[in-house]
Amino acid sequence: MSADELVALVCCDLGAIVRGRALLSSALDDGLAEGVSWVPANHALTPFGPIAEPNPFGSTGDLRLLPDVATRVRVEDDGASALDFILCDIVETDGRPWAACPRSFLRDTLALLESELGARVLASFEHEFQLLLDAPPALAFSLEAQRRAAPFATRVMSSLLAAGVEPERFLAEYAPHQFEIPLAAAEGLASADRSVVFREVVRDVARRLDTRATFVPLLDPSQAGNGVHLHISLLDAGGRSLLYDASRACCLSRLGEQFAAGVLRHARALSALTAASPISAARLTPHRWSAGAVCLAERNREALLRIPPLVTLGGGDAERQLRLEYRGADATANPHLALATILLAGLEGIRERLPAPPILDRDPAELDAADAERYGVGALPSSLEQSLEALAADDTARAWLGPLLYEAYISVKRAEIDAASGRELEENCRRYAAIY
Ligand code: GLU
Ligand code: MG
Repeated sequence: MSADELVALVCCDLGAIVRGRALLSSALDDGLAEGVSWVPANHALTPFGPIAEPNPFGSTGDLRLLPDVATRVRVEDDGASALDFILCDIVETDGRPWAACPRSFLRDTLALLESELGARVLASFEHEFQLLLDAPPALAFSLEAQRRAAPFATRVMSSLLAAGVEPERFLAEYAPHQFEIPLAAAEGLASADRSVVFREVVRDVARRLDTRATFVPLLDPSQAGNGVHLHISLLDAGGRSLLYDASRACCLSRLGEQFAAGVLRHARALSALTAASPISAARLTPHRWSAGAVCLAERNREALLRIPPLVTLGGGDAERQLRLEYRGADATANPHLALATILLAGLEGIRERLPAPPILDRDPAELDAADAERYGVGALPSSLEQSLEALAADDTARAWLGPLLYEAYISVKRAEIDAASGRELEENCRRYAAIY
């Protein structure tokens, strides 16, 4: 590595944009110890550019971006400038965590689950994205589509491997030029870090090939959207699954049922943090195989919470596989905030020993009102505005964030709603595709 390369010290902001400052690699040692300067109002920057007004920060205050060197990503490519960055916590100038830092919020949440339940979180974020190409798309899941994606397909996999995020498969997905690359599960904080790293590496590989990868929740409203599905398991100190109980329905333990019930109870408020843009709700409509309704189901891609199949073929270990999949997120959500708030909703369900949610065995859109009631099937908010109202009305969920993070988040989201209002969905999808 030569001395004149740049290493970026970055954080993922409330609009899931990765921002920060870069150092010469020769100055990195100082940067590791004292971080680089940061400004509170940066947390009120909107994805469209301007700072959201009003916001809780104004022009005052100073912070530091403090790098967590374990997250360093360095991906070299054919002598071009390497992608080199380190994820940071946002801290006060004396090193105390800043009250609105999403990464510290997740770390605190994980510590709470550990102290209250003795639980370690294992999670993975499953992303879909699309390449913006003019060529006609090949058929979904076809070998032809994978081969036409060369050399992107192999380069992206090797870059993701180099970045340490453990890509598992490459899928040519259902929408035009849409792809999905599941990652191996990792410990809670690392799983959300991987989600940030994943998007940047994918975008970078596409950029180097003179194309663009977009994680926009919906590129074309007439097509399938790009989801982010969070797969969550809870383990005890000995590594045994706290969600698994072979004697119960779908092998979901009593604790797992309570966790699921908590997520469903707070689902509408959660959507403000997981389906975080003005176009996100349009993806979460029936028959897009995203999440058409607030319910729990096994192997059913219309449910907000899914229990994926336990594959015992080839000696597969069902206990290790059991997880809950939250399908209602997209890449406009900050992954640390999304995971933390889903976990806190689940923890509430456990604290309150909520009854088991029914496990739906059919398409939620086809239920009549009585059956919807019986299966506990509810609707997701149909706009970000409604999601923010649900968050405002959910005292418990608001309290998770604390006043500063809540206020900052609301100012950014209100500014986004204003910037999107009065425009057609198609146009807003295009605008978001240019950003994400
Ligand atoms: N594209 C779907 C979504 O928006 C997900 C399809 C699937 O992989 O099950 O979430
Ligand atoms: Mg998919």
